[in-house]
Amino acid sequence: MTAPDPAAELLAYDREHLWHPYTSMTAPTPVRLVRSAAGACLDVEGYGEVIDAMSSWWAAIHGYRVPDLDAAIARQTKQMSHVMFGGLTHAPAIELAQRLVEITPEGLEKVFLADSGSVSVEVAMKMALQFQLGAGRDDARRFLALHGGYHGDTFQPMSVTDPEGGMHAMWAGLLPHHVFAPRPPAPGDDAGLASWGDRVRDLADRNRTELAGIIVEPLLQGAGGMWPYDPRCLAVLREVADDLGLVLIFDEIATGFGRTGHLFVSELVTPDILCVGKALTGGYLTLAAVLTTDRIARGIAASEAGVLMHGPTFMGNPLACAVASASIDLVERRDWESDVERIGAGLSSGLEPLRGAAGVAGVRVLGAVGVVQLDHPVDVTRATEAALEAGVWLRPFRDLIYSMPPYLCAREDIETITGAIAKAVAVG
Ligand SMILES: *Cc1c(COP(=O)(O)O)cnc(C)c1O
Repeated sequence: MTAPDPAAELLAYDREHLWHPYTSMTAPTPVRLVRSAAGACLDVEGYGEVIDAMSSWWAAIHGYRVPDLDAAIARQTKQMSHVMFGGLTHAPAIELAQRLVEITPEGLEKVFLADSGSVSVEVAMKMALQFQLGAGRDDARRFLALHGGYHGDTFQPMSVTDPEGGMHAMWAGLLPHHVFAPRPPAPGDDAGLASWGDRVRDLADRNRTELAGIIVEPLLQGAGGMWPYDPRCLAVLREVADDLGLVLIFDEIATGFGRTGHLFVSELVTPDILCVGKALTGGYLTLAAVLTTDRIARGIAASEAGVLMHGPTFMGNPLACAVASASIDLVERRDWESDVERIGAGLSSGLEPLRGAAGVAGVRVLGAVGVVQLDHPVDVTRATEAALEAGVWLRPFRDLIYSMPPYLCAREDIETITGAIAKAVAVG
């Protein structure tokens, strides 16, 4: 008789009953069992400690089991874990709002706490629409968005996500039709910038009566293709928004909290509405925030409804707010700029040699994000396995193998990560 294998039993149940992101219930791709996590590492059944090169999808910037963040949650559970936010308020939400207003650009001072990134995008779009209603622009119901963009998985965010990512075709008729500008040019592409700017101005102008706002991920497009673009594009968008009275929304759910080398890309060009999420709680709990200006808030109040028409059950969850404030404290206490610089330099020196290797179409590094684009779709199962064997957790998608490591990764950790990426590239 063999002893029961608890890990195997858990995985067998998972396979039969649990959906994972974008997976099939009848032909699931393999999942690995994580026993625990600490520092920059996950303890994965069958592999032991591996470095999490994904920071749990941009979120765990300080790594795992972070003493200050653990303590913040433990402290908050002694006060209250949750209370409704309708008609009630509490210090954790108020303190977080203060911290967010302080660390984001001047003018962004009104805060809506949402429960996930996608919901924050819903709220941001709703704010823009209500603002235009308040301004008497009842026909302004569409958004200008970018090819290659990604804004979440619920319906409105899907509608401003790249229409060629497959989603639009599938949901034809259900999704509102927005206006899509081309993918912005790479940094330093002067000719590309000029023609892109002309195209954006022209598209916005031709749709001016129907447009309510512009929504983009500033500087770096994430899940739509891991594409860093020229920062001068942001000034073009600001100018177009100002000229046509459109609300400019920056979705910094992935780029926020230092990842690109700016605490927020919005420091370069200030939007009217800013969405943050992912790393907001250091990856501990789901929480997002929408920040906007007094002008937009007044415009919303001037709409017929008079109020912002949104209010989720778990709005301003105290545990999430407390850990978010503790994470922001940590971001400020750690020298995040030199962390991002060190990681970026390590990713560059480790990944640049892959340029020109068989199957590699391009290498891109921005801030603490490193991307290798292949000339074919990645064999995710083989690439993931090769990386795990090399001591690293990677989660490639489409033709991309990439990493955004936790900020505490040392030089040697980044060497391990780029070594694993090279192995994944070789088999992927
Ligand atoms: C992840 C992401 C979202 C969606 O956030 P969820 O918390 O997964 O709903 C939206 N926009 C961007 C840019 C993202 O990276």
